[in-house]
Amino acid sequence: MGMNYNDKRWKAVRFAAKRRDGWQCTKCGSPANLEVHHLIRARQEPALAFSMGNVVTLCRTCHITETLAERGQLPSPARQAWIDLLKGDTACLPQ
Ligand SMILES: [Zn+2]
Repeated sequence: MGMNYNDKRWKAVRFAAKRRDGWQCTKCGSPANLEVHHLIRARQEPALAFSMGNVVTLCRTCHITETLAERGQLPSPARQAWIDLLKGDTACLPQ
């Protein structure tokens, strides 16, 4: 069961996370294209989906790198495809 990223709670958590992290990527400090990343995936631990302790603000580039790293993959020429997948309000890649 995936989480619903249109959930109002997620919108609130996402906003709070970005505000907490100073509206910048926690890895590279970029203020552009900010997204909110689950440290433990919502699919893995649904109870933590809306936990502030389980989310960090990342820019799109770091988010992609982070997600690929979690999967044991490195960024590749397929990166653009990931960027396309990440467009919009999604916080994690579709499984
Ligand atoms: Zn970054």
